[in-house]
Amino acid sequence: MDCKVCKFGGTSMADGNVILRAAQIVRSEADRRYVVVSAPGKRFSGDIKVTDLLYSLYDAYEQKDEALFEELWQKISLRFLNIEREIGRDLQVQAALDEAKQEILSGAGKDYCVSRGEFIVAHIVAAVLDVPFVDATEFVRFDEHGLLKEETFALASETLKKYERAVVPGFYGLGADGKVKTFSRGGGDISGAIVARGVMAKLYENWTDVSGFYACDPRIVNSPCCMEELSYAELRELSYMGANVLHSESIFPVRSAGIPIRICNTFRPEDRGTYIVTAAKRRLGDGVVTGIAGKKGFTSITIEKSMMNAEIGFVQKVLAVIGKHGISFEHLPSGIDTMSLVIDNEFLRGGILEALVSEIKEAVSPDKIYTHEDIAMIATVGHGMAKNVGTSARLFKALSESGINVNMIDQGSSELNIIVGVESKDYESCIRAVYYEFFPANE
Ligand code: ADP
Ligand code: ASP
Ligand code: MG
Repeated sequence: MDCKVCKFGGTSMADGNVILRAAQIVRSEADRRYVVVSAPGKRFSGDIKVTDLLYSLYDAYEQKDEALFEELWQKISLRFLNIEREIGRDLQVQAALDEAKQEILSGAGKDYCVSRGEFIVAHIVAAVLDVPFVDATEFVRFDEHGLLKEETFALASETLKKYERAVVPGFYGLGADGKVKTFSRGGGDISGAIVARGVMAKLYENWTDVSGFYACDPRIVNSPCCMEELSYAELRELSYMGANVLHSESIFPVRSAGIPIRICNTFRPEDRGTYIVTAAKRRLGDGVVTGIAGKKGFTSITIEKSMMNAEIGFVQKVLAVIGKHGISFEHLPSGIDTMSLVIDNEFLRGGILEALVSEIKEAVSPDKIYTHEDIAMIATVGHGMAKNVGTSARLFKALSESGINVNMIDQGSSELNIIVGVESKDYESCIRAVYYEFFPANE
């Protein structure tokens, strides 16, 4: 029997009324048989996501700050009890809260604690829909390095085929130690993709609070174009680079099975949404660029040395220095006599940057080495860029006309993207400049 998987994000689980709206969406099509949910998210700007409250709760537990623990626990409990009240039925929420608290206090661990948002809300949704709850620990498996195990897909298929319909909590599974283990933040999207692959759904619907994937962040450009289609590869680039509407790893389970993803709006279910497919045909603007995304919080280390290209093992020596510190790099643009390393600031706190610079000096004796701290990386993405001559000229002209200084350039070998590094203060204006260059009709 054909089926669709519906994953509802935190914005679609934020309160009782939105949960009822999500339930209505599920009921409106008989094919919508499997539902995956995230923990309740923000109800209004400035609100705190339940998952964030749970992370703070665990910190308070570790620091043995009992007063703070109780204060946070009250806040979390209130979120769920309000949901139960708004839905207007006894959903056994107090019992679920009591059990979670007891387990946390008896040392169930951090991942268990932060996963309880999805666990409890999935029980609520299952009761509202009158559909079985199936725990993600029954089939989502991680190895000892925290990576998703391939056996997950067969297990998902085996487990879920026993249920004609099911509600599954997103964001977690079972670790190699037999304890609850979570994905990285936003990982409910990956859980939805695993379920879609497990049941071989004809469509993976990802329900959120926007009507699709926009050509850039709608918080930076007012009403940017909404894409009708994009390819899995474009989605991967854009979401990895910061378009957090969908987790960048959520394509892997569905891509190989050719299951399309549809991004749709819980608050406007009649909107078409965006389809993510193998080869996207429908194009916006002049068809060159599909979208623009970016992130702040990087540092670049640029190394200059004449004849660097001829020196065997040069790059290897530099990478050995950062490897020794357990640091990975985001980008590695290089020229004949220069190379840059772009690293997430998270890795560089507490004097690490200074240590790296001095160790690189020692390892390769550069002519010059300098750093740009606090830079933003912005990716301009699209399959159309490979076919259209002069795309980078247009991009750099748009940036210079907006007075934006580019610190670093990295063009992926797939010609699917051009990535620029700019000062963090120029982040928003850079995105706007590129957007209006390639989508001029929307200015
Ligand atoms: P959910 O709680 O439903 O999972 P998320 O906050 O994870 O929602 O993702 C939806 C948000 O992603 C939107 O509200 C929007 O502000 C943001 N966003 C960032 N970039 C884009 C983009 N290119 N297209 C659409 N939304 C985007
Ligand atoms: N609740 C988790 C988070 O806030 C996972 C998710 O929403 O997908 O990151
Ligand atoms: Mg999300």
